[in-house]
Amino acid sequence: MLGLLEADFAALPGVTTERVPCANTAAQALRVRYRPEAPHQVLLSGHFDTVYSADNPFQRCELVDDRTLRGPGVTDMKGGLVVMLAALQSYLASTPPATLGFEVLLTPDEETGSFGSAALFAEAAKRHRLGLVFEPARPNGNLVQSRKGTGNFVATARGRAGHAGKSPSDARNAIAALAEFLVGAHRIPAEMPGVLLNIGLIRGGSEATNVVPDFAQALLDVRITRTVERDAVLARLAELAAPINTREGLRIEITGSFNRPPKECGPVEETVFAAYQQCGRELGLAPFSWVHAGGGSDGNLLSAAGLPNLDGLGVIGDHLHSDREFCILPSLVERAQLCALFLRKLAEGKIGGL
Ligand SMILES: [Zn+2]
Repeated sequence: MLGLLEADFAALPGVTTERVPCANTAAQALRVRYRPEAPHQVLLSGHFDTVYSADNPFQRCELVDDRTLRGPGVTDMKGGLVVMLAALQSYLASTPPATLGFEVLLTPDEETGSFGSAALFAEAAKRHRLGLVFEPARPNGNLVQSRKGTGNFVATARGRAGHAGKSPSDARNAIAALAEFLVGAHRIPAEMPGVLLNIGLIRGGSEATNVVPDFAQALLDVRITRTVERDAVLARLAELAAPINTREGLRIEITGSFNRPPKECGPVEETVFAAYQQCGRELGLAPFSWVHAGGGSDGNLLSAAGLPNLDGLGVIGDHLHSDREFCILPSLVERAQLCALFLRKLAEGKIGGL
């Protein structure tokens, strides 16, 4: 995939391409630069991994009708990469002013949390005033205004093993303690609007049910809307574990972290989004708005690094991360036209607020 993208982007006139190592993985990212000396610089970002493993049965694209392509990653986000490439081809074919340079950063690990490429985003963010993120648009064409921050946590309960038939027992059941904790954790979204918490997996105990289990563990997916909620949700988890931890022989420990802070919408995003909408009107495209998204993206990392960015600029489609994933083919053209016109206006200094 990296090789194919490298060939396509290297064919853009006047660019240089470079394979960039990522942390903790053999996979590499692709960096493309154009006029790095220009006074204004814009970052265009995308990822070329999908959620489907090599042995997933969903491997092929299928034309459902003349508007709809179903296939693995067609929307998230190969479609977005096509939009980006076509927009740049069109932009560069129009004799662009020398005032604008761009950098394309395509990464291999977004779907697994961007742990290997996070540092690349943080570093690239310093060179730019604006980021454009080509994650999918919503099924109705809306862009993404803000995104939840995401974290992965592990709750580990330790008790004391013993015989189930011994009464009163000095054993301590780790499963029962964890269950008590999890019932409270499951209530957090109701107590704290804006926070989501999913208990994704629990394990513990054994087939030998006459043994009191001394170990149980749960994996939690936690999502927050605002940065300030991060400490609050961690404090609440600690508060739920505290009464259990005062009991002799039982201990609940919470480990993990937030890997993507929330992407919040600021004044630059407001201005740039209005300009993007205006481009749509000038092209006679269907009107669109923007919405809050529960899923994270690399736009979160750019925001955390202080780079305002517009997200959801990719193709229109739906049912991401399932074997029903599809994209709307005419939106490839429309979204590429939109982006090309926006870049042109950016180069001509017609976008305020930056
Ligand atoms: Zn994606």
